[in-house]
Amino acid sequence: MISKPNPGLYVHVPFCRKKCNYCSFYSIELDGDKTGRFVEAVNRELSSHNVKHFDTLHVGGGTPSVLDSDKLKSLLSCCIDGGCREKTIEANPESLTDEKLKIFEDYGINRLSIGLQSTENAELKFLGRIHSYEDFKEAFFMSREFGFENINIDLICGFEGQTIEGWRENLYKTLEFNPEHISCYCLGIEKGTPYDKCVKDGKISVLSEDLAAGIFLETDKILTRAGYNHYEISNYARPGKESLHNLKYWRNLEYLGLGPSSWSCISGKRWWNVPTLEKYLGLVENDRSPLEGSESPENKVKFYETICLGLRLKEGIDPEELSGRFGIDFWKIYENTVEKLIAGKLLVKSERRICPTLKGMVLNNYVGSEFVLI
Ligand code: SF4
Repeated sequence: MISKPNPGLYVHVPFCRKKCNYCSFYSIELDGDKTGRFVEAVNRELSSHNVKHFDTLHVGGGTPSVLDSDKLKSLLSCCIDGGCREKTIEANPESLTDEKLKIFEDYGINRLSIGLQSTENAELKFLGRIHSYEDFKEAFFMSREFGFENINIDLICGFEGQTIEGWRENLYKTLEFNPEHISCYCLGIEKGTPYDKCVKDGKISVLSEDLAAGIFLETDKILTRAGYNHYEISNYARPGKESLHNLKYWRNLEYLGLGPSSWSCISGKRWWNVPTLEKYLGLVENDRSPLEGSESPENKVKFYETICLGLRLKEGIDPEELSGRFGIDFWKIYENTVEKLIAGKLLVKSERRICPTLKGMVLNNYVGSEFVLI
């Protein structure tokens, strides 16, 4: 019998040096008084759960690397599980120092995810980033010197004024670092952000769908030619360096989230924590649960969600595995849908799996909408 994998562990560190113009992730500007209380609260929250073993750890946020050395040590010592295969921490160039890299090394972090976002300083300024391309270079090479052999670089595409030529330049410059993983997220207009306000005030415009699709195809061409596996719509990896933690989300597997605004999904139940640090500390410090809400989605909902998430991945879905996992006959419900999407060259059958084509990845929302919830 195949044993069930352990869940992944996600820790949301809600601090950044400065809020970027486009970002809707929950974080506040670094508040030294609160970082110690936050780390203590995460420790308490973790102890309150029955789950004790994890096979991936992802410390994200926010910007975990803004925590000072003592707080980083306390945080990592409470959440590092020796059984974890992949242990990732997110860092930004301006706060990554050799002292912090040494701490990551000491605590067994084996994957770094560094936010570059753009190789052009004018674009970084436009996005409200506080680091320069030169800062990133220094941080990246320092990480390599420390022996980190699994590094992701985050890039953002699809913002106003960007051209295919400019984006190409970004990709070629990023390839010079030869990272193991590259994430290329298309900038979304997130409600309530300064970027959103500028769009509403007509100060900046949204990229056309055609240009966004052009950027997506160009990215695929350049990065796959350079030997990267385009394994998820926005993610590329050297073979074998795909993010194990993020694959858990896309395969709809189990994970435990700690910290304000984090989500968890374990034993068929989903829950989410209160959205702000104030509320989070107020509850955990008074021995109360930081949970804001929970739900136990019906089996058919989980089945449907697993299909939609799985079709973000190049590996696609295995209908027989899904039928067995959820006790629902995939082919009985979706045979016509799959045939239609194959005829439209959006999906292909590959042995026992159904996978999106490149066109199916570009039109992922449409593909998902064809799989109607039963
Ligand atoms: S993009 Fe990253 S660094 Fe910028 S505010 Fe959001 S979490 Fe912080």
